[in-house]
Amino acid sequence: MPIIVQKFGGTSVATPEKIAAAARKAIRAQQLGNQVVVVVSAMGANTDILIDLAHQVNEEPPAREMDMLLSTGEQVSVALMAMAIHKFGHKAVSLTGAQIGIKTDSSYSKARIKTISTDRLKKLLDDGNIVIAAGFQGVDDDFNITTLGRGGSDTTAVALAAVLKADACEIYTDVDGVYTTDPRLLPEARQMNQISYDEMLELASIGAGVMHNRSIEFAKKFDVPICVRSSFSDAPGSMIVAEPESMSVGVCGAALTRDEASVTILGVSDKPGSSYEIFKRLADRKITVDMIIQNIGEADKADISFTVPSGELKETLRAVKEAAKIVGASDVTHDDAVAKVSVVGVGMAKQTGVAEKMFQAIAKAGINIQMISTSEIKISVLVARSEGPAALRAVHQAFHLDTKPADANVWDVNAHRARTTRSISEIIESLRTVNMEQLTLVDISMTADQARITLSGVPDAPGLASNIFNTVAAAGIFVDMIVQSCDGVPGETSISFTVPEAQLDHCMEVLKKMKVQFGKVSGSNEIAKLSVSGIGLRSHTSVGIGMFEALAAAGINVQMINTSELRVNVVVDGKDGQRGLEALQRKFADSLV
Ligand code: ADP
Ligand code: ASP
Ligand code: MG
Repeated sequence: MPIIVQKFGGTSVATPEKIAAAARKAIRAQQLGNQVVVVVSAMGANTDILIDLAHQVNEEPPAREMDMLLSTGEQVSVALMAMAIHKFGHKAVSLTGAQIGIKTDSSYSKARIKTISTDRLKKLLDDGNIVIAAGFQGVDDDFNITTLGRGGSDTTAVALAAVLKADACEIYTDVDGVYTTDPRLLPEARQMNQISYDEMLELASIGAGVMHNRSIEFAKKFDVPICVRSSFSDAPGSMIVAEPESMSVGVCGAALTRDEASVTILGVSDKPGSSYEIFKRLADRKITVDMIIQNIGEADKADISFTVPSGELKETLRAVKEAAKIVGASDVTHDDAVAKVSVVGVGMAKQTGVAEKMFQAIAKAGINIQMISTSEIKISVLVARSEGPAALRAVHQAFHLDTKPADANVWDVNAHRARTTRSISEIIESLRTVNMEQLTLVDISMTADQARITLSGVPDAPGLASNIFNTVAAAGIFVDMIVQSCDGVPGETSISFTVPEAQLDHCMEVLKKMKVQFGKVSGSNEIAKLSVSGIGLRSHTSVGIGMFEALAAAGINVQMINTSELRVNVVVDGKDGQRGLEALQRKFADSLV
């Protein structure tokens, strides 16, 4: 009999009436001949209320007790949902994460699922029950209750669908599906019929809260098709699948991360191992670092900037101050009033001018870009928090995301398939029973055909990036990685980017002719780009940190880094390329499939 997993989010079970409506959807699915597992979240804002309560009792509640507390929200919902189904005359059994046998590691509030036993679930389903599973929770080897992170019920649902080899995983929520951006922020956002795992994963991890990012890692690894749809209507929703029937060229969606903070560490000794000293302290604390940017140092000093979620700033500064002494930093600055605006699209790498279009849209809105970080599937910029929504709107308009792309705008899905789905089916069987969220890498490689250009001491003003990349694009130069960050000097910024080696001289000429006054323009074609590819590379903070560690141990300095869910790329000196590649191959040998 087909198996369906249905997940109902907080708003979808916020009142007894809504619980009854969700119960009816589950019963209908069973009546259509399916075995049904229902995953539920805590009612309404209950998780927030519990967090608030905890902080009233203790400002820094112990992590274990916090998970114990938060898991009760879902326990209330499962019991009520089972009662509602009984009231309609059908059989239902509610289960906590521990009762199902969802085994996780012990990282409270961010636990990762290791294994899920299906025996009890299958028996209950075979006995004709609708099984109601508590989302967001599991249990570690010592039977401590753990939670998976905010929004984690999506991950419970997709993980259950994966182990049960379910035919469908339906995510019922308070919007009609996945939109080009949050429809609550921009009413002109358009609902998508289909979106690829890669794009959804990237969007989810940069602010599209409609899906928990780790749920999409599961979906991609175990090939679970997901349908995101409304709890309150029968509208068809949006499908998240490996390969949508058509993928638009360029950008498919945009997102805003409002609660971001930036940190800059000034005057770091520019030698192998400095970044590792800093980032290992953040990785140990499981802090997700984004937009890591290292300015090419002068006088053997470099400035390192990065962003973290604002809620983790305090802990981040604690960690950074520890490291600052060791790496000889002269100062640490931070800004807690920034927001990150990003655009995502798997076809982006094949197109020129995407970054330039984004910078231009933001410049036209009169908004200053503080930091830039690009990757093959995403471009992120950091702006003042108060300007975040206006920047999002400008970008959404510039890429015409409110209108459906024409069919002509479709690119070769097969090429994408070849690039992303290598051996996924082999991974699946081995991981299902061992460690479901284990790091999964598919490739480690090196390219040496790129050159780096660095502009430092550039006066920081709206339109700067637009001006530079407009000119470079107009000269027919193909720009790959771009990073911009604040300089140590107020009002100044540095921009580094890579171009094909053959275009280096031409690009240098073009830049020197530009009216903008750069403190210094330098270029090098002696660089190598090392890339590690896999699934969920940003949530697995160990990848970036492992790269820093392996390269530092080999005495290799990292000049640039960029990260996406698909890949982490670092630029190193060309002479270190081959040795760097070998160091990474050794480091990640166990995670490669
Ligand atoms: P649930 O409680 O059902 O899990 P969430 O609040 O976690 O619901 O997720 C749904 C919300 O996600 C929507 O109300 C919407 O505001 C927000 N959202 C953010 N980005 C997007 C997007 N790209 N598409 C759809 N919804 C989005
Ligand atoms: N109740 C949890 C939260 O609010 C999990 C979830 O809703 O997915 O984050
Ligand atoms: Mg959610």
